[in-house]
This record gives sequence, C-alpha cells and structure tokens, in this order.
Amino acid sequence: MRVIVVGAGFGGIGTAIELHRHGFTDVTVLEVASGLGGTWLYNTYPGAACDVPSHLYSFSYAQRRNWTRLCSPQEEILRYLHEVASYYHVDRCVVPNSKVVCCAWDDRACVWTVRTEDGASREAEAIVLATGQLNQPALPRIEGLDSFAGHSFHSARWDHDYDLRGKRVAVLGTGASAVQFVPEIATQVQRLSLFQRTGNWFLPRGNRPYPKPLRALFQRVPRVQRLRRGFMFRYMEALTATIRHPHTYGRLAALRSALFMRWQLRDPQIRRKALPDYTFGCKRVLFSSAYLPALQRDNVELVTDSIVRMDPAGPVTGDGRTHEVDCVIYGTGFKTNDFMFPMEITGVGGHSLRDAWAGGAHAHLGITVPGFPSMFILYGPNTNTSGGSIIFFLEQQIGYLRQALEHVHSNGAAALDVRADVETASDRELQSRFEGTAWTMCDSWYRNEAGRVVANWPGYMSEYRERTRTLDPTEFQLYYRADESQ
Ligand code: NAP
Repeated sequence: MRVIVVGAGFGGIGTAIELHRHGFTDVTVLEVASGLGGTWLYNTYPGAACDVPSHLYSFSYAQRRNWTRLCSPQEEILRYLHEVASYYHVDRCVVPNSKVVCCAWDDRACVWTVRTEDGASREAEAIVLATGQLNQPALPRIEGLDSFAGHSFHSARWDHDYDLRGKRVAVLGTGASAVQFVPEIATQVQRLSLFQRTGNWFLPRGNRPYPKPLRALFQRVPRVQRLRRGFMFRYMEALTATIRHPHTYGRLAALRSALFMRWQLRDPQIRRKALPDYTFGCKRVLFSSAYLPALQRDNVELVTDSIVRMDPAGPVTGDGRTHEVDCVIYGTGFKTNDFMFPMEITGVGGHSLRDAWAGGAHAHLGITVPGFPSMFILYGPNTNTSGGSIIFFLEQQIGYLRQALEHVHSNGAAALDVRADVETASDRELQSRFEGTAWTMCDSWYRNEAGRVVANWPGYMSEYRERTRTLDPTEFQLYYRADESQ
C-alpha cells in the first residue's frame, strides 16, 4: 500500500514512523519547506519555545532524559524531531520543497492522485494530511496595510536579517507567540508600541535550565522521568477541567491568574488595560512570567485603542494618533479555520472537501470525512487542545489511521470510508459537549464566523485516547476495485 503524507512536522514524521514499524514501508512525506520540522521549522522568533513541558510534548516511544529545561526552546524541539526521524530512518521519506496543490480520488482505480506545484504527480492508496491548524500566517484586515513604508514581517516568518536594535517597533497582537517574543525584543528596541485587542489570562512559567542534580536524576533513574510525564499529563487535564467547568474550577483558576497578574503588574494603569474581561479559558491561557513585567518597561507602551488604518508612518488608532515606527511585527496568528486549504481536495464523485465543509470543518474524531476514502487528517477539526499536548493527540490519531490501513489490508479491500451517519452523530455529540464550557463564552480562533467551535476537542486527553484507541470497523464501509469481488 502506498501512503502519501502531506507535511513533515510532528504529525507527518510520527505517521511515517508508525507505518514503517507496522510494515507499511511505501511512505512518502511531501513537505513544502526545505526540511522537516513543521511549526518548529517556521517559528524561529526570539524566545520561541513550547509552553507545554517537554516530557509531555514528545513522542511517548521516544522519551528524552536530557531535556535542558521544563519547556524546551524551538531549536531543542527541532533537533529532537530530527534525531527521532533519523533514528527511525524516516528522514529519507521526506521530499522537501514539494508544495501539494491538489489531491484527487479516482473512483474507478481507487487511488489518490497527489499533485505538487512543480507539476509532478504521484499516486497512493491512502493520504494523510498532516498540515496542522497553525501553518498559514494571518495578517490583520486593516485598511491601508500595504501602505506602511517601513519594514514588516509576521512572527512565524521572523526576519533575522533585520536588526531591531535601536528601532521604533510596533507589535500587533498579544497571543501566545507575541507573549514569548515581546520580552526578548523589548530590551533591544528603542521603543515598542504593543497593540492589544483583547487581554489574556496568565499563569506563571518558570523556565530556568534544570539544575545539574535534577538532570542527573532524570538520566540515571528512568522512573523519575516517567513519573514527571504522568504528573504533567494530570496537570494539563486539570487545566481542561477549569475550561469545562467555568463556574467552579474555572473561577478558582481565574482567581489564581488574577492574583498572579496583580502581583506582576504594579502599575494600576497598565493593569487595568491588561486584565481580560472574558471567562477564564475561553481563549488560550498564557504561561509567562516575563511578559507582564516587560509591559512596565519605560520603552514599552501597551496600546489598547483599536487601529483604524495603517499609514506610511505606522498604525493610526481611533484616538487619531499616528504611532510612527520603523518596523511592524505581526503577531496576529494563523488562518486556523483554513486547515489544509487552499489545497484542492476532491473525493468520491469529484466532490470537494471545501463544499463538504462549507458550514465549518468536521470529521469523525477529527480524522476521517465521509466521501473521502482512506484520507486521514492529523490535528484536524476539533482536535486542538487548550490544556494538553498536541503530540499526544497526534499519536492517538496516527495509531488510529494505522489500524484503519491494517483493516483495509486484512480485508483485501482498496480503501475505507467512514459512514456518513456515524460522522454526523459523532459530530452532533461532540458539539453538544461544548455547551456550558468556557470555549463558547467569547470569540476566539477556536470558533468560525458562525460561532461553531471547529478547532478544539471538548474534553480531556484521556477521553480522546479512549475513543481512538481501537478502530471500530462497523463505523466504516470498505471499497473494492471494480475488478475485485466485494
Ligand atoms: P493568536 O493566539 O491567534 O494571537 C493573535 C493575536 O493577534 C491576538 O492577540 C489577536 O487579538 C491579535 N489580532 C488578530 N487580528 C488582529 C487585528 N486585526 N488587530 C489587532 N490585533 C489582532 O496567535 P499566536 O500568538 O501566533 O498563537 C497561535 C497559536 O499557536 C496559539 O493559540 C497556540 O495554540 C500556538 N502557540 C503555542 C505556543 C506554545 O508555547 N505552545 C507558542 C506560540 C503559539 P484577539 O485576541 O483580540 O483576537
């Protein structure tokens, strides 16, 4: 069975490893970038790190005992992925500089044709779309954005050739990325105007390098590292509980966060501006002990007046003020609702995935969509986590799709397709589980314009594990080639 994987981030590499380990050796990983790494290749902004502890933000079968600190920086995570890919010999499956433009299912031949931008096309019995939710940088819709005469770039495409030292800089956005790079650049720039549309809830993050004795303990006593991973898992599940129960656990967490923020923000004016006015956990809770102190630096201004347009000199706010700057950095996130689009995907009968998802993306367990046989999505709709590790979710999805391919193989079939009634029922049940949770209590990138939560899983990591642990063959129909008997 030939399998084409689109994207060589954690999802794509993890898929190649799992399939190789289970005897599916014809795996090709097409990657638009010049190498593997996905989000950890692209996001190189100063201070880039994962705020999920590395003992959990890593493959369960490739645990490290030499992480240098709780939350690893970007280079360490990228190095880890390279090492794992090389150890399992799947780095050689990656075809870099290959931008997939379309995947089309052929009803008669029961194969997918995958075309890349260079005009090449490949065939496969199964495709895995591992492009993730956070891969296409989004620029804000602001009038006159292109008229800015200075330098500009997005946080996920950091311009390391541009020297920020002594410059007047505007940062738009105060999400998880900006919160990491603002404290880093605030010490270099002459002036930093930080434009905040919505405040965030913060929790502390101490991230000093592990002291030598602790590193030695991890190295010498494997059990300690396993215990730590287990502890992190439970800690993250507890964070999800605060989001699922906003009036009880959520209130306590909000109190904890507010106390931390008050303690860090001594300046009452900045504090008033920075404190969020929405339910704890509705947007991503941010872990940083460095960001709020940076707001109180003399060269930093937190601007909460909304930007009405961009002028050649810089952003213009509602109060009529032009914020003259040399450089604008967009920390404005990603086109999260686009998933793998603009890639064109057509399934049974030539129907497009774009049409199937016109009312918002949905997939059974975030992985399979009716009418798209043997197409598997990783980190697909409703599989983002607000409290947990995406690597954990990816591992479940990868194990599930491997079972699906084994099911096809053992039945001598050509492909499998999730039953439409199964997908509809599971989606209805999933959406109903958001009722009363913090996710529905404000607008965020987790929801589409109609208000449907399309990004997040509504529950705990452990629930997702239970549901994806064993593939239920009755939920699928098998396809056979025209020349094979059913
Ligand atoms: P983000 O969380 O989507 O934040 C985007 C920011 O830009 C928000 O503050 C948003 O304000 C603001 N914004 C968007 N459009 C704007 C406009 N027109 N005018 C003014 N402000 C605007 O993006 P991100 O910080 O890149 O993070 C994206 C996701 O990546 C995170 O949620 C997280 O899942 C992941 N991430 C994870 C880590 C980690 O350590 N694990 C680190 C970085 C990123 P509003 O809040 O008002 O929309």
